[in-house]
Amino acid sequence: MEKLTKIVATISDLNCSVGFIRSLHEAGMDVVRINTAHQQPEQTMDIVKNVREVSHKIPFMIDTKGPEIRTNNSEQGISLEEGETIRLQGHATKQSNKDCIYVDYPEIVQVLSRGSNIMIDDGDIELAVIEKHPGYVICRVQNSGMVRSRKSVNLPGIEIPLPALNEKDKEYIRFAMDHDMDYIAHSFVRNKKDVLAIQEMLDQRGSQVKIIAKIENQQGVDHIDEILDHVSGIMIARGDLAIEVPAERIPGLQAEMVKKCIRRKKAVIIATQMLHTMIDNPRPTRAEVSDIANAVFSGTDAVMLSGETAFGKYPLESVKIMTKTVREAEKSKTFTVDSEVMPHDNQISVFLSKAAVRSIQKLNTRAIITDTDTGKTARYLAAFRGRTPIYAQCYDQRVMRELALNYGVVADHMDVELSKKDFIKHTLTRLIEKGEIHDSDLIVVLAGNFGKKAGPSFVEISTASNMIQDQKD
Ligand code: PEP
Repeated sequence: MEKLTKIVATISDLNCSVGFIRSLHEAGMDVVRINTAHQQPEQTMDIVKNVREVSHKIPFMIDTKGPEIRTNNSEQGISLEEGETIRLQGHATKQSNKDCIYVDYPEIVQVLSRGSNIMIDDGDIELAVIEKHPGYVICRVQNSGMVRSRKSVNLPGIEIPLPALNEKDKEYIRFAMDHDMDYIAHSFVRNKKDVLAIQEMLDQRGSQVKIIAKIENQQGVDHIDEILDHVSGIMIARGDLAIEVPAERIPGLQAEMVKKCIRRKKAVIIATQMLHTMIDNPRPTRAEVSDIANAVFSGTDAVMLSGETAFGKYPLESVKIMTKTVREAEKSKTFTVDSEVMPHDNQISVFLSKAAVRSIQKLNTRAIITDTDTGKTARYLAAFRGRTPIYAQCYDQRVMRELALNYGVVADHMDVELSKKDFIKHTLTRLIEKGEIHDSDLIVVLAGNFGKKAGPSFVEISTASNMIQDQKD
């Protein structure tokens, strides 16, 4: 059976041959994420072309830089010793030197105060502000390390009034629209205004690109409800999140956000360090496989690989291990149909979807089949997190690709608009041929009789052979 939890893999222009991408896709990669923070559009285009050569079913997720602060360039890096003091200042271009670290946010001193912490390079180096002066701060180095060029700078608990989108973000949003990308994963989303700024750009061009909000600071966590009102889903970006909020709070926040997304029928991706040690080692740690399994038990739509596939030594092995772990966890998972999924805008869809998924437990149905215009019906079904795949026949290629991110959905495209009868027959025959189901398996169909706009209006349950036979009569 198809795995239900999806895998997002980060692909870099340094390792994106057609053969490599094909091997990852065959091993279980469902979505390609492209991290644009360190890339130019020409390099991104190489990845896009190669992925499309492998399959037109693979969706792209363009990950933006977002409102972030980085260290400025320095010749060889600045070596810091624990306990010493160092000056820190904001400037758009000045190079750091042994007397002063420059960061690319000119107004940084205004948001800092005595006692503020500054985390550099994914938190590897911590500075504590001990004096604030006009235009600069003096910091005490909390742990030794080397401050290199263009490294991340996090200010835990501090609200940074940077605009939602920088020039590079806008360039990549235009790129996403120009090249028919599927998702924009926007970094450091703090509130709904950040996502609305993207939506405004998309709306100006009538674009269908969907937004994923990366939740990676306290503000994002605090405003999760209003953010969810305006996005297709979220990424729990644990790398930055664990620097911005105390790391021990991550598991609790993760569990809460996953639950919220499922109930609101929004996609959720758990990201970062899922198989981090496999960047250098051929086998994962026990903690890593447990992390993946726990993500599956929580009901996430997807788990994500970053450095493991972008530049690690064992990218294919990482996807294979992730797939095996997901499958095994799905076998031992307890499935319960969540009665709290919110009806939102179509109560009939929620009611019928719940009945369709319940039939898996009550009647041992083996697959759900639906047709979907915007993807909504498939997402309603997915929200109840059943134990069988949802075979979604889509009228639109983009919708088919988007659904590759959603829990349990196996989406396909119908070239011609088949009649209701034909689409059921066509889907079942194909699944039997592929060995996914047998003639005698009980199948659930969720479909509608009153046009695409009306959504689903009935649930039908019978054996695959009955359904095929009935369509023939
Ligand atoms: C993260 O911080 O966890 C993350 C996914 O973002 P990025 O890889 O862009 O740092």
